[in-house]
Amino acid sequence: MTNEILQGPKCHTYETKDRLRGPKGAKYYQTRRRSSLYYMGGNACSMNCQNDWFEKFGEQAINHFGRIHEPIKCTIDNAWVKDRDYNTTTNEFDIYLFRNKITNERRPLTREQYNNPQIIRP
Ligand SMILES: [Zn+2]
Repeated sequence: MTNEILQGPKCHTYETKDRLRGPKGAKYYQTRRRSSLYYMGGNACSMNCQNDWFEKFGEQAINHFGRIHEPIKCTIDNAWVKDRDYNTTTNEFDIYLFRNKITNERRPLTREQYNNPQIIRP
């Protein structure tokens, strides 16, 4: 278990009541500690902190993880997605299928195949 959080580099400078701590005469703002952080994959308390983080570290992070130099292509071969269709007989979305995002070809799937994360293309 860890209480370590990332947070934005300016989190402690924002004037909100929940960041204000300390006894009278020795008050200070501190980085937010929240049980639920909804930004940066659970590491920042707000959109502001997420943006502050990216403004300060984004360039370094991108340089570290690399950029692409050529456009990446989604070709017919890897354009299959699992989809569901509405069944007018049962009035439910219980028709399972593979659909190709480029050709729009459809291939039937069973419910088990649809729910199996190992199966990603026909
Ligand atoms: Zn924050």
